[in-house]
Amino acid sequence: MYDVVVMGGGPSGSTAAEELVRLGHKVALLDRAGRIKPCGGAVPPRLIDDFRIPDDQIVARINTARMISPTQRQVDIPIENGYVGMVDREHFDEYLRTRAAEAGADRYTGTFLRIERAGVKTHVVYRDKKTGETRRLRTALIIGADGARSNVAKAEVPGGDKIPYVIAYHEIIEAPEATGTYDPKRCDVVYDGTISPDFYGWVFPHGKSASVGMGTGVEGVDLKKATAELRVASGLEACRTIRREGAPIPLKPLDRWDNGRDVVLAGDAAGVVAPSSGEGIYYAMIGGQVAAAAASAFLATGRTRDLQLARKLFMREHKQVFRALGAMQNAYYRSDERRERFVSLCHDIDVQRLTFEAYMNKKLVKARPLAHLKIGLKNLAHLTRLVSETRV
Ligand SMILES: Cc1cc2nc3c(=O)[nH]c(=O)nc-3n(C[C@H](O)[C@H](O)[C@H](O)COP(=O)(O)OP(=O)(O)OC[C@H]3O[C@@H](n4cnc5c(N)ncnc54)[C@H](O)[C@@H]3O)c2cc1C
Repeated sequence: MYDVVVMGGGPSGSTAAEELVRLGHKVALLDRAGRIKPCGGAVPPRLIDDFRIPDDQIVARINTARMISPTQRQVDIPIENGYVGMVDREHFDEYLRTRAAEAGADRYTGTFLRIERAGVKTHVVYRDKKTGETRRLRTALIIGADGARSNVAKAEVPGGDKIPYVIAYHEIIEAPEATGTYDPKRCDVVYDGTISPDFYGWVFPHGKSASVGMGTGVEGVDLKKATAELRVASGLEACRTIRREGAPIPLKPLDRWDNGRDVVLAGDAAGVVAPSSGEGIYYAMIGGQVAAAAASAFLATGRTRDLQLARKLFMREHKQVFRALGAMQNAYYRSDERRERFVSLCHDIDVQRLTFEAYMNKKLVKARPLAHLKIGLKNLAHLTRLVSETRV
């Protein structure tokens, strides 16, 4: 009998499992394994510090972010006081799962099938990968950390089947030597309607390889064609392609993360990815932590309302940033005209400091006096112009 079965061994589930073991609970971690999560792999220093990620998991250290506009205007933002880390999900996820197991979680490899309840007994039913047999794990509580389009969310939590998504597609290529267009220490972020009409494209170096891709929520967009064009524009068309893969990125956190009984969601399963950037790894790990805290409170008190703690704790810390990033996406990702203005806004040194500090350390920093006001006014001027132009 487990206290908690954690469904899904991505960053969210592994973090939840490790945290719960450290809180003294008996934990099972179930993952189907065998598929590398499609992901750009960019992580902020705050994640590396807070979750004690060892140096050998960081395959590249990025010191510049290049914003590219529809007219090919380029704004280089130096990353001061640190770097953006790059992880390879093939190794990073396995590292986190192993760490949870070494802390004391029991690992199971198989595919989740369903939750069965009979009287006071609850079982997680799964198909064992090695034997193909159907097996059961008895538990008091389940954490659904099974990623975007979560089966646990769909079956258990209201709205869990209606999370809006963008579909992100990328190609992992063999990285070239540094060239005029490719720098192994620079991330390129491409705001261009021909690459993505509503999100962005990227080139993220990973040491020996690189991730080149784009995302969109617009139906009918040819993701492979857009990525091929991005590779040509970035001088990467001749590089050998190692993998081609795509996956959904959730766009909006669910209003509820628990079923009021014995399930709480975490990470992509709860719809938690930062708007504008699509950054999900850090928030998935925080989601794992808060789900573990909620689960532990529930196990101590037996009060089902303690499961709501997960969402409350998360939103207390991150609601403002999610709102601001959502507003930014709404305002600037709608047309090439707006994307052009957004990239031009990135020239501003105060915009650079504020946005990058917020990304790197997950907190708003003290800006130079009046910087917030100046940025606010610039934004307002841009948006007012956009509104009046739209009216004309
Ligand atoms: C193309 C792309 C690029 C991205 N780039 C970045 C980036 O650069 N930086 C960033 O921070 N975020 C990025 N993201 C988002 C990030 O990958 C996710 O937000 C993050 O992986 C969420 O972690 P998670 O643990 O919630 O879910 P996942 O990482 O999806 O983990 C879910 C786990 O559940 C398991 N699972 C699912 N269903 C079952 C089942 N039925 N039975 C058993 N096991 C199951 C899976 O095997 C998996 O291990 C990107 C996403 C995409 C698609």
